[in-house]
Amino acid sequence: MSLFDSYGAYRGRFAPSPSGPLHFGSLVAALASYLDAKANKGTWLVRIEDIDTPRVVAGSSDLILKTLEAYGLYWDDKVSYQSQNIPHYENVLEQLRSQQLVYGCQCTRKQIKACGGFYHNTCRELNLPLDHNAIRLKQAHPVYQFVDGIRGQINVSANFAKEDYIVKRRDQLFAYQLVVVLDDIQQKITHIVRGADLLDPTVRQISLFKMLSQPIPQFSHVPLAVAEPGFKLSKQNHAPAIDLQNPNLTLIDALRFLGIANDSDAHQLAFASRDEILSWGTAQWALNKVHQTQEIQVIPHDQQFRFKAL
Ligand code: GLU
Repeated sequence: MSLFDSYGAYRGRFAPSPSGPLHFGSLVAALASYLDAKANKGTWLVRIEDIDTPRVVAGSSDLILKTLEAYGLYWDDKVSYQSQNIPHYENVLEQLRSQQLVYGCQCTRKQIKACGGFYHNTCRELNLPLDHNAIRLKQAHPVYQFVDGIRGQINVSANFAKEDYIVKRRDQLFAYQLVVVLDDIQQKITHIVRGADLLDPTVRQISLFKMLSQPIPQFSHVPLAVAEPGFKLSKQNHAPAIDLQNPNLTLIDALRFLGIANDSDAHQLAFASRDEILSWGTAQWALNKVHQTQEIQVIPHDQQFRFKAL
């Protein structure tokens, strides 16, 4: 049964973590998920993933929303915030606990690194208390592969797929891997378009959808914008700030980056309005046009960017 049958309509989302202003890479993810939703006459939601409180930068949620508005990327329903959904996460964790699907783990990062970088489910049978320990989910049905809407067949290592991953951290914060799936279920998300840094963890998310007997969304991963190979654009590596006053050039750059616009399209679009650029992007959008690479290097050049596939 496809998700369309079970939920009836396309629902996509952009789910930024408010750890700073949007940079070009996150704008690319926002634009791709927006265009995919609009091209499918779907609903596009924005969810602020502010669960990792130590990484939240004050004011950045509002700035992200202002930026999306300045770029004409208007969302179709109330913005949701993970920080306001904690009772729901607690409820689900309690259900998992009562079914003995989670356990406490005392292993440190250093110990895991010393064992080859993968957690070998060491504490699974130790019956450690859940309080003051990290809480891991028993990975009873590992998923080793899936078909990505852009990248095609994806296979991950067995070690990665079989790892009992953390759902609540020792510092009592819920982990991204759990809450992202709980939110996508609650918001009835049918299609997820996001950056390729989340390609491998998708198998964990799919296994969790299955474990909770929920329909699995279609996942599609767009290339990651990097400053240097392996280094995502970020404030730390001086990603140029996104221009709020003049979104057109950046939107055209993002369409070129994704593979939707070529140089001659970009030239023509230079004379279009912001909303015309978005309508053109929606009409041209197709997942099979998007570059299938993991990373694309972004090199600032005059007022525009140059791109180099890696
Ligand atoms: N909040 C995540 C990030 O900003 C994205 C999560 C997702 O799209 O699933 O990297």
